[in-house]
Amino acid sequence: MIRQAISCDICGTEKKQTNHWFVAVRSGRRAAVSGWKSRNRLRPGTKHLCGQTCLHKLVDEFMAQRLWRRGCSRALRTRAK
Ligand SMILES: [Zn+2]
Repeated sequence: MIRQAISCDICGTEKKQTNHWFVAVRSGRRAAVSGWKSRNRLRPGTKHLCGQTCLHKLVDEFMAQRLWRRGCSRALRTRAK
């Protein structure tokens, strides 16, 4: 059996026996978060999160990026007039 070392994508904590971890998959403008038992967890591009604190950080980051992009495109549209 190959044991894959998994660590948190936000804080770098290594996964041990604890199982309050989450997986988050970003696809385009959406992000899906699911529990650790999700089959998504080995998909490329999946983020592994050691708990709610890191989950919130990821969501904050994601929302900030979306808001920034939205604000940016609005600014461009205004300038085009
Ligand atoms: Zn973490």
